[in-house]
Amino acid sequence: MTAIRPLVAGNWKMNGLGGALGELVALRDRLEKAPVPEADVMVCPPATLLSRAAGILADTPIALGAQDCHPLASGAHTGDISAEMLADAGATAVIVGHSERRIDHGETDELVNAKAHAAFRAGLTAIICVGETEEQHRNGETVDVLTGQVQGSMPEDARASNTVLAYEPVWAIGSGLTPTLEDVARLHEGLRENLGQVLGPDQGGAMRILYGGSVKPSNAAELMFVPNVNGALVGGASLKASDFYEILAVYRGSSAT
Ligand code: PEP
Repeated sequence: MTAIRPLVAGNWKMNGLGGALGELVALRDRLEKAPVPEADVMVCPPATLLSRAAGILADTPIALGAQDCHPLASGAHTGDISAEMLADAGATAVIVGHSERRIDHGETDELVNAKAHAAFRAGLTAIICVGETEEQHRNGETVDVLTGQVQGSMPEDARASNTVLAYEPVWAIGSGLTPTLEDVARLHEGLRENLGQVLGPDQGGAMRILYGGSVKPSNAAELMFVPNVNGALVGGASLKASDFYEILAVYRGSSAT
């Protein structure tokens, strides 16, 4: 099987006014001086910054992603943003099914699946997030939860070229906690099998599976080289260009691609 090219994506969440764009400029400049050709890199700022970010990132290796979309292309949905609008603003990808959306907004697997379809319709890559809560983790339900979320959220027509799966244990997000490397390996292997069941072995075997949850410069090197970990979805540590670059730079000189 050919190696999977890693992706390090930064999720700024609801953080960042115009001044935060300086971090994008810093990241762009850092990558120009010290490229990391072994991995893809993406930043997902809030929707309000997308157009300005697109200007800064044009003709750079840094892709621009968004954080959520509505399943429909347009209509009477005050405050929502369609995948087409995100593409129009310069995004090439969108995160769907982040646990903060699933929990804060009651998003179901069915809705996440529809949002992924919306991403495809608009020509965007869908970054589909799955992950168990702390309670589910404590109760030993992780594998069942992840299997159900992949089966429900991953469209059967998803392709490795337009979809990325992100495993983010809810209890690891923003907590400084991470699963053991053995657990990450075991769960990512299980997710790889889940993908194969939903998409068939070719697409399931080629799709990127990111790990997310308290990835930092200090733990990235070990997490990123666990088998079936094909990059990271990074929250807090993506807000500072220097930290985010350090995470990405674990791939420098690697043969991960
Ligand atoms: C996230 O919410 O996608 C995330 C991984 O956050 P953090 O890195 O801050 O844990």
